[in-house]
Amino acid sequence: MQSKGILPRLLLVAVMIIAMFSAFKSYQAMQQGKEYSYSEFQKDLKAGKIKSVEIKQNEKIPTGKIIVHFKKGKEKMTDVDDTKNIVKQIDEYKADSKADVKVNILPAPEDNLLLRIYVPILLGFIALFILLTFFINAVAGGGSNSKMANFGKSRAKMVVEVKGIDYSKVAGLQEEKEELEEIVDFLKNPRKYIDLGARIPKGILLEGPPGTGKTLLAKATAGEANVPFFTISGSDFVEMFVGVGASRVRDLFQEAKKNAPCIIFIDEIDAVARRRGTGMGGGHDEREQTLNQMLVEMDGFGVNEGIIVMAATNRVDILDPAILRPGRFDRSVLVGRPDVRGREEILKVHAKNKPLSDDVNLEEVARITAGFTGADLENLLNEAAIMAAKEGFKFITQKDIREAMLKVGVGKEKKSKVISDKEKKITAYHESGHAILFHLLPDVGPVHTVSIIPVSSGAGGYTMPLPEKDDNYLTKGKMLQEIMVSLGGRIAEELILDDITTGASADIMQVTALARAMVTKYGFSEKLGLINYDNDNDNVFIGRDLAHSKDFSDETASDIDIEVKNIVNDCYAKAKKLIEDNIDILHKSAELLMEKEKIGREEFEALFN
Ligand code: ADP
Ligand code: MG
Ligand code: ZN
Repeated sequence: MQSKGILPRLLLVAVMIIAMFSAFKSYQAMQQGKEYSYSEFQKDLKAGKIKSVEIKQNEKIPTGKIIVHFKKGKEKMTDVDDTKNIVKQIDEYKADSKADVKVNILPAPEDNLLLRIYVPILLGFIALFILLTFFINAVAGGGSNSKMANFGKSRAKMVVEVKGIDYSKVAGLQEEKEELEEIVDFLKNPRKYIDLGARIPKGILLEGPPGTGKTLLAKATAGEANVPFFTISGSDFVEMFVGVGASRVRDLFQEAKKNAPCIIFIDEIDAVARRRGTGMGGGHDEREQTLNQMLVEMDGFGVNEGIIVMAATNRVDILDPAILRPGRFDRSVLVGRPDVRGREEILKVHAKNKPLSDDVNLEEVARITAGFTGADLENLLNEAAIMAAKEGFKFITQKDIREAMLKVGVGKEKKSKVISDKEKKITAYHESGHAILFHLLPDVGPVHTVSIIPVSSGAGGYTMPLPEKDDNYLTKGKMLQEIMVSLGGRIAEELILDDITTGASADIMQVTALARAMVTKYGFSEKLGLINYDNDNDNVFIGRDLAHSKDFSDETASDIDIEVKNIVNDCYAKAKKLIEDNIDILHKSAELLMEKEKIGREEFEALFN
């Protein structure tokens, strides 16, 4: 039993109980009316037992109902032929006895047996039926052909509206869009291709990190071609009843065939299409059934039926190779992180509905956001808008964007936290150490901001470089310089203070990771040569990895350690020399930081003149 089914079932039970209860109440009320009679009422009235009477008239006729409230005990109800007569009787009694009996006349509609009793009972039965169906379905487990199993299946919208989402909404991904151009053309006019006997790919796999716009691109492809967009997400299948996943897939393809030409999009396909038989333990039958059904469906329709199956994944390496075979997902489109121009275009798309102040320079924002995905950039502008709104502005300024950058990038500046002067001094020297090296070394930097305002990630400050160009390749020289920069913080602390702090732990982690990668992954160490000693990437398959031990000797392992240490020590010595040669600048920079807490590129570079 999966958690997904529990809520609806609880709701059903609740409905059922309420329905039964209200039917019972109505029934009881009717019985009360029968037990108490008009003559008894007259007796009780004369005996002075009655406190008040509610009269429910029927419409336009004298008959009705009275509810009698006693001075002691429960109220009773009876039908009466003439409500006016009741009022008269009570008035007479009041005049005789000087006692008070309150009369309350309510206009009552015709009693509706149907509504009061049968409808609730019927509701109860329906709820019971649904509940039973769920139960049978769960017990039968499978039997996806039976009507029962289909009952539990959500008829959730498989077709998603894509009107208005076309390629103009997808910024940056120029090459990716070009690769899909022929698909769009095919969907617009399948005959053109069919008549020429051209074979159009059936399945296209969009591959790339989260947030790079894969889902958006798939939708926009449908929007661009103006065809229906059927979609389902791999993660939807994970919590389903056994057999439902497969039957959903079947339905999806059936529905799509009726609506061809169209696109079927399977988002997060890795959730269903992981390599089979590699999971730890069992329990993946459902996933396998779903995957098998998907393969059957894909093999089942002809190449030119006008259906294009698109799928998205963050990880191709964990996919079952069966789905990549010809006739299935045999075309793949890489959707990468945007370059600086792509970032600017994405920013423009998302800035369209946001009022920007004149000082906003999206080109600069694009420059300082290397590594951001489309989703990150959208988030950045959104945070900036929130910041502007919070301060009561009608437009977004560059300052808002810069602050939003810290929030989404490094965590929000925490101005409220009180920092002691000593802490401030340590951080100021530490960050200045990084900053000086960023400035002096040729392949890294220049410095965009140096700050000793703590950020919520726990760091006491940060030094943000301004990458001048997008480098897709890391060179050996650049990696060494990055290591030197990371060591700069600790070196500055050592040179100035009598003690060192734990503040450099993140730097040390980065240094180690970089140096290790140089040796084990990039073949930058002569001693160890052009061999990959790094099998981290296999860890996805814990099941597989258990059988897959380290494939080098202990001796090699120790050589690696020595090489890594040599690289770090070498960088350390060079970095230390550089900082020592610029010790006055270190002091000046740290002092300026302690005073201003945050300095920009110009102020920092002025220190070198
Ligand atoms: P993925 O499917 O690759 O994880 P999405 O398509 O869901 O990424 O992207 C999430 C959001 O990020 C989109 O809805 C869109 O607002 C924004 N986004 C991502 N890439 C782009 C892009 N190239 N152009 C415009 N917006 C983008
Ligand atoms: Mg997505
Ligand atoms: Zn540091």
